[in-house]
Amino acid sequence: MTVRVRIAPSPTGDPHVGTAYIALFNLIFARHFKGKFILRIEDTDQTRSRPEYEKNIIDALRWCNILWDEGPDIGGPYGPYRQSERTEIYQKHAYELVEKGKAYKCFATPEELTEMREVAAAQGKRAGYDRRYRNLSPDEVREREEQGQSYVIRLKVPLTGDCIYDDAIKGRISSPWADIDDQVLLKSDGFPTYHLANVVDDYLMKITHVIRGDEWMSSTPKHILLYESFGWKAPTFMHMPLLLGKDGKKLSKRKNPTSIFYFRDSGYLPEALINFLTLMGYSMPDEKEIYSIDEIVETFDAKRIGISGAFFDIQKLNWVNQKKIIETIPEDQLWNRLVEWQFNEGFMRKLMPLAHTRIKTFSDFMQLFDFLFISDLKMTPDLLCPKNTLPELVSCIIQAMIWSLDEQEDWTGEGIEKASHVAAEAFGVHHKKVVMPILFATIMGKHQGPPLFDSVTLLGKDRTRVRFLLAIETLGGISNKKMDKLKKGWEKRDLKALAADQGSAGSA
Ligand code: GLU
Repeated sequence: MTVRVRIAPSPTGDPHVGTAYIALFNLIFARHFKGKFILRIEDTDQTRSRPEYEKNIIDALRWCNILWDEGPDIGGPYGPYRQSERTEIYQKHAYELVEKGKAYKCFATPEELTEMREVAAAQGKRAGYDRRYRNLSPDEVREREEQGQSYVIRLKVPLTGDCIYDDAIKGRISSPWADIDDQVLLKSDGFPTYHLANVVDDYLMKITHVIRGDEWMSSTPKHILLYESFGWKAPTFMHMPLLLGKDGKKLSKRKNPTSIFYFRDSGYLPEALINFLTLMGYSMPDEKEIYSIDEIVETFDAKRIGISGAFFDIQKLNWVNQKKIIETIPEDQLWNRLVEWQFNEGFMRKLMPLAHTRIKTFSDFMQLFDFLFISDLKMTPDLLCPKNTLPELVSCIIQAMIWSLDEQEDWTGEGIEKASHVAAEAFGVHHKKVVMPILFATIMGKHQGPPLFDSVTLLGKDRTRVRFLLAIETLGGISNKKMDKLKKGWEKRDLKALAADQGSAGSA
């Protein structure tokens, strides 16, 4: 048997370190067993998937030097490797399950589904769908179809018993079928859900081991049932421990730096990032912490993969990075690497228009642009809070700007400018006297500097986001309760009451 493994990222956001982490273990596994490593793009979520996110995933993994043998960019014998190009395959398979009596057409309307969910919640049940269309007679089905009623295709999940399987990392797993809804496989628009597309593709692409994060464990019983329903042999499942943030929860962009580009732009070495990521899920036999991918490929043993989540500790990453700089970059090469990073013609030329009229001597240059080259920007509540504006309000304004930027999907200078006006208006605070000083302090760690919005474009989305998060953290964070209140006000774009509550003198 040739080992074939894959990563199957959805192009719905910035390239996440979690994707690199899972990709790495798949790559190591494939190389160790002399198998193949495949990249498949799972872009079935039409509303959230974007081609530019796919490009970013590819660029980010390449930057990490994580390279695949088959994928949408290079093709391969089992393509296409982009799910949006395989819709007919999924449709055919969904109808095959209906034919076999393993799945059925469900005509529930959105109103019916809401009602079912409410009833189930009141009864304290985990599953929310009451299976009312599971046993329609063929005539009833035909009649509804003739009336033009739309339907989805659902999987017939057993009503009793347990799904039991052996995870190659976690051991024997058992979960009761009663907790699992009759999963939708094909939506009414003819597009597949993740579960159907994922299983059909893993089968057709001859995947032997599914190595993915713990967060997918709740989906695995559905996948196992799908394999059984089709009459296929399931691959071996291996669920990797999750990367955790400081709060012990799954590493999320809402609280932590997560974009691979953040690490690239902040001057980390790709070889350090991947060494560090393997450390998060694996321990080398001799407890060695600095090694190359070749070393782990050679000695790889799945038993050495951790069971529980690993804290993504930036201090540790910094330590690994320093070791790698010392070990892998000879002194006479260091300058070349810095040039490659940011001290290059292309980047410096972009700074010249911003510098031209703002330096008295050349030696002012570094002071003017220090914030573009340092990660550890010094921020203090004093610096971040404009006159008469309390830290609580400042952190809420920053959080609202993050939401605004994510909604408009534009983190360039132009996007920040828009977001800053939206926030000023929503909170009823003065744009120039309140929001702009906050932005200067957050982005540059000072109140004056080169033009802010052009600077943000140069700093880049990922470092900008992390500065926003750092500012909120410096101000003491936002409690869950406050966050809920803020979110509600934000949805209505009306946060004037909240601003008044938190004492702002800088009203519009
Ligand atoms: N599309 C899923 C993701 O975004 C794939 C999960 C899996 O590996 O099955 O990670």
